[in-house]
Amino acid sequence: MLIVMEDGASEEDVARVVAQIEAMGYRAHPIAGTTRTTVAVTAVQGPLNPADFEGLARVKEAIPVSQPWTLVSREARVGPTQVTVAGRALGAGRLAIIAGPCAVESHEQTAAIARAVKAAGAHFLRGGAYKPRTSPYSFQGLGEEGLKILARVREETGLPVVTEAMDTETLDMVADYADVIQIGTRSMQNFPLLRKAGRCRRPILLKRGMSATIEELLMSAEYIAAGGNQQIILCERGIRTFAAHTRCTLDLSAIPAVKARSHLPIIVDPSHGTGRRDMVRFLSRAAIAAGADGLLVEVHNDPDHALSDGAQSLLPDQFAGMMDEIRAIARVVGMTL
Ligand code: PEP
Ligand code: MN
Repeated sequence: MLIVMEDGASEEDVARVVAQIEAMGYRAHPIAGTTRTTVAVTAVQGPLNPADFEGLARVKEAIPVSQPWTLVSREARVGPTQVTVAGRALGAGRLAIIAGPCAVESHEQTAAIARAVKAAGAHFLRGGAYKPRTSPYSFQGLGEEGLKILARVREETGLPVVTEAMDTETLDMVADYADVIQIGTRSMQNFPLLRKAGRCRRPILLKRGMSATIEELLMSAEYIAAGGNQQIILCERGIRTFAAHTRCTLDLSAIPAVKARSHLPIIVDPSHGTGRRDMVRFLSRAAIAAGADGLLVEVHNDPDHALSDGAQSLLPDQFAGMMDEIRAIARVVGMTL
């Protein structure tokens, strides 16, 4: 159930309604919009009667929510959510480009790539310090040393950092270094990790599980939001299909599908989505044209010797060329970079 407050209801009015809902035995989550506040009611077993809420002071209406996610639903907010990281906004008409290596390998490598993607117009640096690898014998990431390198490169370049947390044990440490915490495709339904991310003070970049439906993606986002963290960016990164010409099938229909159901921003990762450097540029262009709020792109200065995902990593000059095209398409679809 969503409780829509009257326009101009004060913080005290909202706090009183929250207390009244909690006294009924439910949980109440205020969601501040640009013109009005909505209070989402969760922890509900069985049907609710809108009339029980519509009688509360300064409540305009109570709207039953038909889908199983409430806080991230389209109805929960007027308009799309904009996530702001280190002064840079993402969503609601503002595109953000996140670029960098798959894995942090050294300070020299990360700094060189960061300088190159910044010069080409990227807004965030990505790079994994904890890498979820299919094989236990593959490079697993530098761990905390990698986080320290990312923090140092942020100081040197001014680029905010996006990096993955793989488990509940290291989430707090990753949050100490990162500006945005990525939850990867293999962790999308790691419910203890989602719950802890919900209590985290950093924005979360939640990637779609490679076999997950849009509904499952939104339910995972709801876990984070229910914990109190509404700063969530969704990411389409390709799903498993029978197609063998790409690593995954990038599902660009996820963009309008998410936007029809949720106020959260959604970005696209064409690197993992295709697994092929020669396709990244085309799918990036298509993603922005289809309404994505940004891109997550792997870039490496020596992809032949990359410790992970070299085959899908763009060279810095290829990334720069792609950014010129993205700027042109952004203008056409009315988005600002
Ligand atoms: C990554 O971003 O490097 C990564 C491992 O992504 P995914 O979880 O989408 O495979
Ligand atoms: Mn990767």
